[in-house]
Amino acid sequence: MVSLDQHRHKKALGQHFLHERGVVDRIIRSLALRPGERVVEIGPGAGALTFPLLEAHGDLSVIEFDRDLIEPLRAAGATRGKLHIVHADVLTVDLTALAAGTPFRLVGNLPYNISSPILFHVLDHATAVIDMHFMLQKEVVDRMAAAPGGKDYGRLSVMLQAYCEVIPLFVVPPGAFRPPPKVDSAVVRMKPLPADSIAIADRAGFAALVKQAFAQRRKTLRNTLSGRASPAQMEAVGIDPGARAETLSVEQFIALANHLHSTP
Ligand code: SAM
Repeated sequence: MVSLDQHRHKKALGQHFLHERGVVDRIIRSLALRPGERVVEIGPGAGALTFPLLEAHGDLSVIEFDRDLIEPLRAAGATRGKLHIVHADVLTVDLTALAAGTPFRLVGNLPYNISSPILFHVLDHATAVIDMHFMLQKEVVDRMAAAPGGKDYGRLSVMLQAYCEVIPLFVVPPGAFRPPPKVDSAVVRMKPLPADSIAIADRAGFAALVKQAFAQRRKTLRNTLSGRASPAQMEAVGIDPGARAETLSVEQFIALANHLHSTP
């Protein structure tokens, strides 16, 4: 790992560095990399995951925003394999261009303060990615993987599950990080669904519908979707306008969005 003697953890960049090798090994085992695969890591930090990955795989690209970590990463990476460092805010990185026609495996212990924006950004570039393995707040992973009907089910669940298979893998306690976060963490695998199996006619319309439906989750769809979908349009696809968003399946959201798209 990069020596952190001089490094002050930046809270604003969500810097909680892994220091338990057992957790690192578990992530690497979950990845089960095959020779020749391209791997990209978001937020390498001091390299807790980076260097074991590099040693196991030989070739790795990383995207890190903290300028203070770039030179130490470069120096420590020089002797360990091919480390390509992109110094940038991941939210501004065109992952599709980065893939250059060769989809890659994406991995990262994400900065928790911007984990949702990162997830939505990655969704926009899903064809660039074979799969993702992310460490996130456990509470976020619970929401990503939630089924309809419960309090965890919401916009994040519907948006991610419409485009990806979401598989929670394992929980990681705060003590595995320095400094420890206040919450449990969890590792999740997301595998983009094949493009031809995603039946969403208008992605922007679908996203806007889901956002509006969950904006006031205690209200009925008749109220929350007023101005976007009429009760008759809901009934046309078998949705009860008196129901709440949290009871609708992902398929029902897609059916309603497609219906609105075809009958504006
Ligand atoms: N991978 C390291 C580990 O497990 O010890 C560090 C993980 S730490 C939770 C998150 C990392 O993401 C930090 O290195 C932080 O500087 C970096 N980061 C924060 N915001 C970022 C952004 N917008 N783009 C790229 N990296 C970012």
